[in-house]
Amino acid sequence: MKKNDIYEIEITGMTHEALGVGKVDDMAVFVQGAIEGEKVLAKIIKVAKNYAVARVEQWLAVSPGRREPFCPVYKRCGGCSLQHMTYCMQLKFKHRVVTDNLERIGGFRGIHVNPVIGMEDPMNYRNKAQYPVSMGDSGPVAGFYARRSHTIIDSESCGIQHPGSEKVRNVVIDAVRKLKIPVYNEETGEGILRHIVTRVSYATGDIMVILVVTKENVPGLDRLIRRLTDEVPQVKSIVLNINKRRDNVILGDTVKTVYGSDTLVDRLGHLTFHISPLSFYQVNPVQTVVLYEKAVEFAGLTGSETVFDLYCGIGTISLFLAKKAGRVIGVEVVPEAVEAATKNAKVNNIFNAEFFCGAAEEVVPRLYADGMRADVVVVDPPRKGCDEALLETMVKMQPERIVYVSCNPSTLARDLKYLAANGYGVREVQPVDLFPWTEHVECVVLITKL
Ligand code: SAH
Repeated sequence: MKKNDIYEIEITGMTHEALGVGKVDDMAVFVQGAIEGEKVLAKIIKVAKNYAVARVEQWLAVSPGRREPFCPVYKRCGGCSLQHMTYCMQLKFKHRVVTDNLERIGGFRGIHVNPVIGMEDPMNYRNKAQYPVSMGDSGPVAGFYARRSHTIIDSESCGIQHPGSEKVRNVVIDAVRKLKIPVYNEETGEGILRHIVTRVSYATGDIMVILVVTKENVPGLDRLIRRLTDEVPQVKSIVLNINKRRDNVILGDTVKTVYGSDTLVDRLGHLTFHISPLSFYQVNPVQTVVLYEKAVEFAGLTGSETVFDLYCGIGTISLFLAKKAGRVIGVEVVPEAVEAATKNAKVNNIFNAEFFCGAAEEVVPRLYADGMRADVVVVDPPRKGCDEALLETMVKMQPERIVYVSCNPSTLARDLKYLAANGYGVREVQPVDLFPWTEHVECVVLITKL
C-alpha cells in the first residue's frame, strides 16, 4: 500500500475522534469523513507501520446518519468534528465512545450506559467563545484555529456560539483595524491583542468581554470600549487579561476591569452565579442544569449528609446540593473561583456551604487527617481525571456514594477501575450532551459502597 492508492473500503467502525475505520488486507485504515456502515472509494494519504489514513474520494453507500454540515468552514475548522452526522447519530456515537472506554480501559464488560441526553435545539448553545487574533493577508482577523494548526479561519459566524459573541468579535476586530491596535504575532512575540474572549449570560443576555493582551497599555483602548458598548449594549463588562507568556495558554494570571462589572451574573435553575473572568464555568447552560440535576439525584440526599464537592469551580454543583444536604464542603484550586464560590453561597442565602482553596489531592487528605468524613463525595475533575492520592483518600473515607462528573470518558474509566477494585460498585452511567457537533461527551456516574 502506498500514498495516493485508491481502495474500496467498507466502514465497520469509528474511532473516538470520529474517523471511519475499515480494512485493506488486514491493515486498519482510518478514513476521514466516513461514517460506520458506509462504503467508499478512499485515497490513501498516509501509510504508517500498522495503519493507514485515507480520504473519501467517492461514496458507494451512504449512511442514513449522514447530513450536510451547516457550517461553510466545517472541513477546515478545528472546532466541530461531527457536523457530517445527524444529531441522533452523534448521540449514538457518543454513547459508544463512553461504553468502549468503560469496557476497554475500565474493564467493565457488558456495562449498561444510559442513552445520551441530547438537546432539543442543539444550535447556538455556547456561552463562551475564544477567538485568537492575528494578522491576515488583508489586515487583522479573529476566528477559530484550523484543525491541528494555528492558522486562523476568519468565518463570519459560528453556528454553535451565542450571536452576541459573534457580534462582539466582529465589532472588536473592525475597531482594531481602524484604530490600528497592534495584533499579536505568535512567532515574534510582538504586538498586543492576542485573544478576544466572550462570556454570555443566557439568563440576562449580558456579555463579558475579556481582551487578552501582552501589556496593560493598549493604544486606542478608550475608543474601542466606546464603540463596543455603543454597538453592543449587552456588553456589561470589559476586562483586560495580561498574558506575556510565549506558549499556547490563552489566559494569563492578571485581570483588570476597564469597563463595568468585575463579574458576569448568570442563573442556572433557581440559583444565581457571579462568574469571574479566570474561573471555570460550564459552556452549555441548558445542558448544565440537566447535568447538575442528575448529579443531585445521584447524590440521594436526605438533608443530613456531609457532602464534598471536589473541583468545585465557582461552587455551582455545591449550591445545587446545599439545599438538600446538611453541609457542603467545596474544594477548588483557583483562588479567584473560591472567592466567587463563597460570594455565590451568600448571594443565594446558602449558609451550609464552605469552600477551601487548594488541590483536592492535598486538601482532602488533610481534612481526612483532621477527622472530617463525607457521606457523599462529588468529583468533577478536568480532563486528566482524579489524582490517585485523592482516590486513595476517598476510599479510606468510605462515603456511601460517590458521584463522578467527567468530561473525559477515558480518565473516567481509569478512575472507576480504581474505585471498583477498592470496594465500590458502578450503579449508573448517564452521558449528557454538553457539546453538540463536537466529539466531546460529558458523563455523570453513580458509584456506591459495596
Ligand atoms: N464543578 C465545577 C468546575 C468543574 S471544572 C463546575 O461544574 O462548574 C474543574 C475545576 O477543577 C476547575 O475549576 C479547575 O480550576 C479545578 N481544578 C483543577 N485541578 C484541580 C485540583 N487538583 N484540585 C482542585 N481543583 C482543581
